[in-house]
Amino acid sequence: MPKPVIIAGAGPAGSVLALSLAKANIDVILLEKFDSLPIDLRASTFHPPSLELLEGLGVIQPMLDKGLIVDRYQYRDRKTGEVAEFNMKAISDITRHPYRLQLEQYELTHIIYDELKQYPNVKVLFGHKLIGFEQDNNQVQVDVEYEGQAKRLVGSYLLGCDGASSNVRKSAGIDYEGFTYDENFLVVSTSFPFEEVFENLSYVNYVSDPDQWCVILRTDKLWRVLWPTDPNEKNLDKYLEADFIQAQLQKLHPKEGDYDIGHKTLYKVHQRVAKDYYQGRMVLVGDACHINNPLGGMGMNGGLHDAFNLADKLIRIINDGEDHAALFAHYQRQRKDLAVQFVQKHTIENKKLMEANDPDVQRKRQAMFMATAADPVKAKAFIRERAMIDCLNESEAVQ
Ligand SMILES: Cc1cc2nc3c(=O)[nH]c(=O)nc-3n(C[C@H](O)[C@H](O)[C@H](O)COP(=O)(O)OP(=O)(O)OC[C@H]3O[C@@H](n4cnc5c(N)ncnc54)[C@H](O)[C@@H]3O)c2cc1C
Repeated sequence: MPKPVIIAGAGPAGSVLALSLAKANIDVILLEKFDSLPIDLRASTFHPPSLELLEGLGVIQPMLDKGLIVDRYQYRDRKTGEVAEFNMKAISDITRHPYRLQLEQYELTHIIYDELKQYPNVKVLFGHKLIGFEQDNNQVQVDVEYEGQAKRLVGSYLLGCDGASSNVRKSAGIDYEGFTYDENFLVVSTSFPFEEVFENLSYVNYVSDPDQWCVILRTDKLWRVLWPTDPNEKNLDKYLEADFIQAQLQKLHPKEGDYDIGHKTLYKVHQRVAKDYYQGRMVLVGDACHINNPLGGMGMNGGLHDAFNLADKLIRIINDGEDHAALFAHYQRQRKDLAVQFVQKHTIENKKLMEANDPDVQRKRQAMFMATAADPVKAKAFIRERAMIDCLNESEAVQ
């Protein structure tokens, strides 16, 4: 009887791996520490290559039905009123999905969970928190806490998809190298129709401002605004107070009466990459092995690309008897050495570009966006790169 693959974490990465392996008739145990799938407001952007990969899992139609198709995004300068617009139709010849799909990440995990119910070879164990693991040449032994009791599960491989604070990574003693930004980011959602008060507002906007930059984007349900906070502020509680949030929104667009607030979150931002992506029969995936600031929406998308890459290799290892050590080393070369270098570089650059408040730098930045958007060849290259098409193609080509 073959031992199951044990996956820790039912976020986007773990869910995609579970369904990919289930479809290949591989036994899977999917552990989730919470009693149900988390509904937290984090990633909301699916880039074109992620949508193409998700087609293969048969989940794309319900995603398109629920999500918002956004085929243009803008870089706005509040001071000059200039708007550089990038229309993703420019990449219609190289992708079946020339748009960003705005959809909460929990919608994907719920859609996949519904699919998984059809597969008797998959057990989804809620309320099961991975505490640690051991391994030898033949198997992994995974220690889990369930209802306050310790349990031990045995599997063929362990996939650490348990997010940025990964117990799998910590248990393997793998360093999470990089840094944490001093400031926090504040995200607030509101049902206020910004599209009615800002002219020609697209559903994704990067907004520069002499005082404070922000990102305004629409998810499938609400508008979301993201601002950086002051890195020197000690009283972080103030950012979540109603008065502060109302004042922020009034600065963005003054109006009579209060804004209606859907949710508010203050979170730390990191740029970190795990020193190793695998150890023996254990492999790390998604936020468990890389994390970055959310400008550009590359974190979850990168994790999905990891998951599809690894799923292919695991199917070859388990169903075709290929050597796991060689294929896991290949996964690391493709996903750590190339893909993550791209994402880390771009997200750090994106943040630097947004936060520069020297008027001269701001003017040059907007001029660069305007010139790029106005030149069809440059605009296409810009859109392709930011849609993660180039980095995925290049990483897949690595031998
Ligand atoms: C505000 C915000 C906005 C973002 N926007 C975007 C965006 O637009 N596009 C984008 O690409 N990325 C975005 N990101 C990043 C994105 O949310 C993450 O990259 C993504 O969630 C990573 O998926 P994952 O499956 O690797 O990990 P997670 O989503 O963190 O999932 C991990 C799962 O493991 C479970 N778990 C944790 N520990 C254990 C354990 N010990 N045992 C069992 N289960 C465990 C958790 O409960 C969770 O279900 C954003 C992040 C934030 C904070």
